[in-house]
Amino acid sequence: MMKPDGRLARPLAAALLFLSACAPSWRLPQGDAPSRDDVIAEGALLETFTLQHDKLLHPTLQTTCDIADREAVAELLSALDQRAPSIASFERNKRTSGPAPRKLRIGDRDFVLQDDRVFKNRLSLNVLEETLPSWPDLIRARESTEKLGTSSESLAHWSRLSGLANSLLRYDQMRLQWGYNFSTRLLERPLVTGLLQKLEDCLSDARCDPRPLLLVDTSIEERQILRRHKPYAEMTALATKRQEVIEARRTQLATLKDWVKRDLDRAGFIRNSQITRRSAQVFAVEMDAGPFKNHRETLADWLRSFWSSERWSVEIKWRDSVPQAPLFRFELIDVGGLAHVFYPTSALRVPWVSSWRTLSHEFGHVLGLPDRYEILWDAERCRYTQRSWPDDLMSSSWSGQVLEEHWQELDREYPWRP
Ligand SMILES: [Zn+2]
Repeated sequence: MMKPDGRLARPLAAALLFLSACAPSWRLPQGDAPSRDDVIAEGALLETFTLQHDKLLHPTLQTTCDIADREAVAELLSALDQRAPSIASFERNKRTSGPAPRKLRIGDRDFVLQDDRVFKNRLSLNVLEETLPSWPDLIRARESTEKLGTSSESLAHWSRLSGLANSLLRYDQMRLQWGYNFSTRLLERPLVTGLLQKLEDCLSDARCDPRPLLLVDTSIEERQILRRHKPYAEMTALATKRQEVIEARRTQLATLKDWVKRDLDRAGFIRNSQITRRSAQVFAVEMDAGPFKNHRETLADWLRSFWSSERWSVEIKWRDSVPQAPLFRFELIDVGGLAHVFYPTSALRVPWVSSWRTLSHEFGHVLGLPDRYEILWDAERCRYTQRSWPDDLMSSSWSGQVLEEHWQELDREYPWRP
């Protein structure tokens, strides 16, 4: 997947993964369709990344800016690994000020659903923009956390650190290993769609020289977007008109087009073939309850309580997934892991301690809806910023609601045909 010189040889074919809010969603470019086995193998590769934190220190994952101290990052991650059991137990017993958490007995453990209605007061229509902590920030935070010793306060800090480090690892992986550059703003999507068409038109016309296209035949706004992609600068720097230079530019244009497309694809709808319309109001979804087999009705009630409105609702049909006709299947992951939908194996993964909204947000992905928060990477400051819309469940899994526009989107994608 990666050339020895460390550049991306080929982005992974079509492995798709969505993470819950506070983490990005990503989908990889759709090129020549890989076999299902390929996708699963690549998915497995992705899985090991977060488990093998040392990959972050691997030379192929050099960042454009210096992680101040790679050794310190490695130490931070192993300190978190060592504390994983106590962090998990802290999360399980965390007291919320709302009603008592709901519990479901699964095997010899409890699945804990924390009620997050307590956050309702935070609901606001404003956009939230925040700069996320960087590795140096987390390393400093670790130092002050160490000083708290074994106090109960310290566990809350370790738990928070663990969540932040997990997100940062994911973002870095996506950016450094998979080639997302986190440069497209959600509101720019229509503009990027038009721009992509121009790039594709040029590529399909053998006489088209990319340089005038990019310097003259694009708008200022479009060039602003292009400038965030590294191949753009490299290509426009090639100034001569010689045919071989034009050919080299065309090759780079193809790369640039892939970069732009990948960022755009990250926020697209993914149709689920297991969804049918029962009526003008009802979307029926077939799913596999997995470990929740003995609690199917409770689980369906929880999901429906978010995913229903005066006009619309979902109906969940439980069935066992079979390899010939895979269904989205619930899976449980360690406490502290990030809830996500993993497309290569049609898995909806939630930690043993989850919140109601997180469950509902991930179910939104099963319906096909993309994440609606925005992650931008600032290469000069070596930082990610995140923008989210707190009233939107697909943007914020701590305060959002299902909005009428979500239903409208589902209605367009799965039209009712009486
Ligand atoms: Zn998500």
